[in-house]
Amino acid sequence: MIQPIIEQRVIERLQRLINGVKSIAITCHLSPDGDAIGSSLALCHVLRRLGKDADVVTPDMIPRTLLFLPEVKSIVTFTQNEPRARKVIETAQLIFCLDFNTLQRIDKLAPLVMGNPCPKVLVDHHTDPDQDFDLMISFPEASSTCELVFRVLMQLQLLRLVDRWAAQCLLTGMITDTGNFSYNCENPELYEIQAALMRRKVGRQWLYNMSMNTFSADCLRLQGYALDQKMKIYERQHMALITLDAEELKRYNYKRGDTEGIVNKPLAIPGVEWSVFLREDAECIKVSCRSLGDFAVNDICTKYFNGGGHLNAAGGDFYGTMEQAVQLFEQIMEVLYPENDIQTDNLPKNEI
Ligand code: 5GP
Ligand code: MN
Repeated sequence: MIQPIIEQRVIERLQRLINGVKSIAITCHLSPDGDAIGSSLALCHVLRRLGKDADVVTPDMIPRTLLFLPEVKSIVTFTQNEPRARKVIETAQLIFCLDFNTLQRIDKLAPLVMGNPCPKVLVDHHTDPDQDFDLMISFPEASSTCELVFRVLMQLQLLRLVDRWAAQCLLTGMITDTGNFSYNCENPELYEIQAALMRRKVGRQWLYNMSMNTFSADCLRLQGYALDQKMKIYERQHMALITLDAEELKRYNYKRGDTEGIVNKPLAIPGVEWSVFLREDAECIKVSCRSLGDFAVNDICTKYFNGGGHLNAAGGDFYGTMEQAVQLFEQIMEVLYPENDIQTDNLPKNEI
């Protein structure tokens, strides 16, 4: 039995908001992932089936790995079609904000969203959401925004409109945000939700393979290189650090999304409790962190990298050189583990 977790008065308010409008915009965060795109497409699909003029607007491009999702081509991307993106946001009578907790995360869409006086509804699972929203459905303990969209639709009694397409989108986000149910996956109700979605004939194996287990040869080689040549282990600080600069990325024909998942790999090494991946992008060094247990990488990303995220998965930006970024992490380690002295490079697994 899947218990309702959203307060009834919130659901009733949401019901009234939806009933009272025709055009609805749905937006999600920059560099959208499976959860952001899956939750947005699923909600959009259901709202359309309800007779609404609903559209998804993303701040930037959808990664190649998600292009298999149903109706993905209907998404309006600001960086590709700014006039259309503006029109959708400006004419919306209701805006859903999915899978982010602060308007900074939607980049150039933020002034447009704030410029439209219509009600804004947040559905999200990040900690400490901003107060810019009229209705907040914020559950940091949820596995994914897709789980929350399922719960919202369940409590709105709209599950009858969740068809195979919507179910594929929702299950994809649950799969990608939990590493195929390998973390944030302890709540038994997740499996009841999954079962409900699978009854809609989603093709779970296909969804997993398309969203998490499809790589180009270049991409696999880049991952191999990163782990073999670039992984540095700070044994005493229980930390692993991988860096890839622009030249290295070019060598492997890097395309967006190719480095997804690299940062998780070192957590497999016994003794490694947090892992950092630094990638040199055009404008900044992109910081990506993962951790185990109660080691809060979102605090580090908020404090030092103008970023944020979840307790065990967070990110941010660094403006400076790769060397300076590495130095900053070494200083952070010094703060966390003050008696820092020995560093061990490329330590074999069995010596940790
Ligand atoms: P990833 O390491 O996969 O890029 O990001 C992991 C998580 O960290 C994302 O789901 C998101 O919640 C958060 N995150 C990543 N980059 C940023 C950022 O620049 N700002 C904020 N606020 N959160 C980020
Ligand atoms: Mn998410």
